[in-house]
Amino acid sequence: MAATDLLIPAPVLEDLVRRIFLAAGCTEAEAARVASHLVGANLAGHDSHGVVRVPRYIEWMEQGYLLKGQQASVVTDGGAFLLMEGHYGLGQVVAEQAVRLAISRAVQLGTCVMGLRNAGHIGRVGDYAEMAAEAGLVSIHFVNVGGSVLVAPFGGVERRFSTAPIAIGLPLPEGPVILDFATALVAEGKVLVASRGGKPLPEGALIDPDGRLSSDPRSLYGEYAPEGPRNPALGLGALRAFGEHKGSGLAFMCEMLAGALTGSPTSGPIEKRGRVVNGMLSIFLAPDRFGDAAGFADAARRYIAWVKACRPADPSAPVLIPGEPERARRAERLARGIPLPAETWASLRATAQKLSVPLPEGLT
Ligand code: NAD
Repeated sequence: MAATDLLIPAPVLEDLVRRIFLAAGCTEAEAARVASHLVGANLAGHDSHGVVRVPRYIEWMEQGYLLKGQQASVVTDGGAFLLMEGHYGLGQVVAEQAVRLAISRAVQLGTCVMGLRNAGHIGRVGDYAEMAAEAGLVSIHFVNVGGSVLVAPFGGVERRFSTAPIAIGLPLPEGPVILDFATALVAEGKVLVASRGGKPLPEGALIDPDGRLSSDPRSLYGEYAPEGPRNPALGLGALRAFGEHKGSGLAFMCEMLAGALTGSPTSGPIEKRGRVVNGMLSIFLAPDRFGDAAGFADAARRYIAWVKACRPADPSAPVLIPGEPERARRAERLARGIPLPAETWASLRATAQKLSVPLPEGLT
């Protein structure tokens, strides 16, 4: 945490964000869901998908790219297959509705494959894997971001992919195991956070048009004012896919599965600039249909213990399994508060003031 960061208790931050979305015309339910998701991302340590997004979501609503008051609707119902339409609604809202319906089918039928098209930004994908795990389900999520072309394919210097995240969740009695990451070397939101004074980017997260590696957010956004908006359309460079040709291949497949297959737009070519939508292909599986849910939990528990017993390369950094860093961060931030870089707070405050939303007591 930087010396200039503010520490804000999670409930205070969540209430402010909820009031901002209410003032922007969202329903109580929408405002509460978006606020709890965004603050939940901060609690998990994914500041890139937390409250730093608020000004951008409000701008998108003002521009009509993101629509209030939408409900996810069923396009095709095949029982254990669902195709859902998000109607450009707030992603956290319509994706939750689609995922909850698919979860109920998988609980009933043992499995469900669900495609979601045209959702607004759905946020931290691990949230949906956590919902499934709470219902006792394994889940796999491929996501793409239509209209958001940010990542250069392996061997290229021009943008072709979105940051196309993947999440996989396992329900275990000791708590869920959640793998959740962007196929870009870092999520775009991490560039946003770095540009607002937060954690700097690792070297080589970005690539300039001449092929030079960079960690400067300007490679993605071009020049920007400290409190002003960040527009990825203005930068000349690109994010890089993680894992060389392998991560690049996964990003490509996310565009195919979550975009082309579901009928949601792929990252490009962009016909109408501005509207950023998530597509998602999710698979939900009930472990008991594989024979023995208790046997799965037992085998998973023994395997996890064996992986974690691996001798660490650095004795001060034990080997972790997916989801452990988020769990530790959540406990720490629930206890101490959420650290917000001064620039993130300034942009949130400016958005609140624009909508005449009073700031929490003691914060200016
Ligand atoms: P990241 O690089 O921080 O990786 C996170 C994953 O790696 C987690 O599963 C975590 O548990 C695991 N992990 C981290 N450190 C570990 C360690 N030492 N040992 C073992 N496992 C470890 O994540 P990211 O790529 O920056 O993505 C951040 C968030 O952005 C994700 O929640 C993702 O869903 C979200 N995202 C959303 C969109 C969208 O369009 N909705 C697009 C891109 C990313």
